[in-house]
Amino acid sequence: MGPPFRQTNIIDGVYGISEQYIKKTSANLACTICGHQSKAIKICPCRTAGYCSKDCQKLHWRTHKASCIEAAVAHDMSDYLMYFLMNNTLITLLRIALIEKGGLLDDPQPNSCHEVAVTVTVMPVTDEETHELAYGRVDVNDDTHEIPGCLTFSMPTARPFTSIPVKRPILKHHPSETQIMMVWKEAKYQATKLGRSKNPVVVVLFSYKHHQLCHAIEITPDAFEAAQKFRQPKLDVSSALMAHNKPEERPKAWLESILMVINDFVRDDYEDKLKMRLKMAKYDKEFIRNIFTTRLEREKAAGAMTSKQS
Ligand SMILES: [Zn+2]
Ligand SMILES: [Zn+2]
Repeated sequence: MGPPFRQTNIIDGVYGISEQYIKKTSANLACTICGHQSKAIKICPCRTAGYCSKDCQKLHWRTHKASCIEAAVAHDMSDYLMYFLMNNTLITLLRIALIEKGGLLDDPQPNSCHEVAVTVTVMPVTDEETHELAYGRVDVNDDTHEIPGCLTFSMPTARPFTSIPVKRPILKHHPSETQIMMVWKEAKYQATKLGRSKNPVVVVLFSYKHHQLCHAIEITPDAFEAAQKFRQPKLDVSSALMAHNKPEERPKAWLESILMVINDFVRDDYEDKLKMRLKMAKYDKEFIRNIFTTRLEREKAAGAMTSKQS
């Protein structure tokens, strides 16, 4: 018997959770309102609620509306992430970033369940618009002021790369297992079937707002090769110079420059061939403004401190 859910076929070596599995776990095949259990439960398009009848659905709508729209946002985000993962250049760059973040070049630990968080932000495509937002020249509530945005990825330093050794990736799943472990095992199972048991697998938790989308990514030998090349100073002069005197900062500098390459690649796609451009929502505008407001306030506070001292 294989695992209880199948991989979604995105690209070779990238594993997600199938929609069927999400439906089963999120709505649990029981009516959200009356609890009636049946195989005929209609699942809400947001996939977080299910109903036995139109009446139950109507009853729920008033309280569910807001979270339903929210869940639909997560659904859209999963589409954008698909485009990201399906692009050969981007998936290779992401694999290099994962190698750097986890120190996998020195110790790949193929039998450990690796987990890492990636934050997804929607940034304005142009610097001008970023400035407009940062300095409060844009009303974030004004729907008519459209700002073209694109996905931007970061790996917060505060969130560590965790690795749990798994002695034997068994095929059977236990209900108490975390989703991360289940996705990891599924990916490991598929990779082993293809004769690639030596490839480490990293479960990436992409987070946008409070939504999380989980994908297991197999780290393939070509990514290791690319990561090795990337470390050669000739290819990455600035970060190599930066890290020259501080060996302990090297992986951090490499990671930052690889993330920069990823984000520039997405931002410079003016014809939207990658399909990763989107209108900035109110939340995105507020998010960018908040980043800059806190930064400006910090700078102001620092400025006041130095002027006091002098
Ligand atoms: Zn019902
Ligand atoms: Zn819904």
